[in-house]
Amino acid sequence: MVNYQDILISWYQINKRDLPWRRTKDPYKIWLSEILLQQTRVNQGLPYYLKFVEAYPTLQSLSNAKEDDVLRLWQGLGYYSRARNMLETAKVIESNCQGTFPNSYNEIIKLKGVGEYTAAAVASFSFDEKVAVVDGNVFRVLSRLFDIDTPIDSSAGKREFKFLAEELLDRRSPAIFNQAIMEFGALQCTPKSPDCNKCVLCHMCTSNSVGTVSQRPVKSKKTKTKKRFFIYKVFSVGNDTFIQKRSGKDIWQGLYEFPLQEFGDENEQLEYIEKHKNELLYQSVEITHILSHQRISAIFLCFKHNVEIDMPPTDLLRIPRNELHLYPVSVLIDNFLKNTNDLSFLSFDENVN
Ligand code: SF4
Repeated sequence: MVNYQDILISWYQINKRDLPWRRTKDPYKIWLSEILLQQTRVNQGLPYYLKFVEAYPTLQSLSNAKEDDVLRLWQGLGYYSRARNMLETAKVIESNCQGTFPNSYNEIIKLKGVGEYTAAAVASFSFDEKVAVVDGNVFRVLSRLFDIDTPIDSSAGKREFKFLAEELLDRRSPAIFNQAIMEFGALQCTPKSPDCNKCVLCHMCTSNSVGTVSQRPVKSKKTKTKKRFFIYKVFSVGNDTFIQKRSGKDIWQGLYEFPLQEFGDENEQLEYIEKHKNELLYQSVEITHILSHQRISAIFLCFKHNVEIDMPPTDLLRIPRNELHLYPVSVLIDNFLKNTNDLSFLSFDENVN
């Protein structure tokens, strides 16, 4: 059999990026990096990794953290359930395993928020367990090297690629080989226009010989994008404003925001504004915020002080406006705050209480 392993490992030794989680075997830090990097590019995740390691250098320190502080540090990275699961898992390991991180794939995969890929990554990178990682990069590299057209999001595809990855795994150096194939996918065998002429594997890459590189990997499902229509109501009383914590099974759970009303469609959203236009001090332009499966149209309205807040008062937290930055918020809210100059337009009546 052609020795893919040696070629990939040699390529990796020359081309790898120097990343802090590659300089450690500490399972806590490797797990932290893997959770941070899920659905996230390395360049975006790196500053978050450094912030988290500084704030919480050990599993024990993370297990003692408050959820608001963790979410605040996570702000801007999206998929906030990762942060909540990470905190919960740290607490569970601390209390149930006396702070010792599980040291095998079969134990690591039982942790909340950890799937097959993350368990394989931590088990191989930290403990040199002979288990193959299969992430988006590995799917792409294998589908092209062997010209596989089984959809990677089907059960059959997942089984086939996992089997192949296990077959290909270099059992002498599982940690380095896993890093190598992922890095190769990230830097060389890229999703769009990989430079196949300069590829160390081009002579053994089937898709390159048959001309199917741009069609690999194959995906069966098209993800539908849901459209949502938000109005955020910004109230101001003296120097204070009102926020609420998001709860329920929806995006941004645990983050704070201005009182929100959601509408079924754009007409309902605009009708609401028309109905209340005489009560408004300020209306933002429509802000489009795109998440992986959602497209949100958001408008911020600042109401004059004598308008009743039509939300149950118990849901609302009254806070000084200049303390808004202390609360974890979504990127949508954060951008609004930055673009509206610290809400200075809201300081219209300091005497109202
Ligand atoms: S030849 Fe092209 S498609 Fe094949 S492994 Fe190399 S970069 Fe990827």
